[in-house]
Amino acid sequence: MCQHQPPCPSSDAPGHAAARVVAAHPEQGWSLLCNGVVLFEDTGELLPDGRAVQPHRPPARAARSTMPTAVAA
Ligand SMILES: [Zn+2]
Repeated sequence: MCQHQPPCPSSDAPGHAAARVVAAHPEQGWSLLCNGVVLFEDTGELLPDGRAVQPHRPPARAARSTMPTAVAA
């Protein structure tokens, strides 16, 4: 059960992948989220009820965020 504030989305909520990571295993390529979802580094998911979600983003390269740098002339 979730002790976070604000509470993590439940595993059946649309934004369930936004839950906090409670156990990260980057060497194995997966993380366990607070709501019981296992999130794989290719964005695939394994839900606590046994359903699998196929990767919905291209692997790698999507992780890099392009933050615009404000340059004052
Ligand atoms: Zn939580």
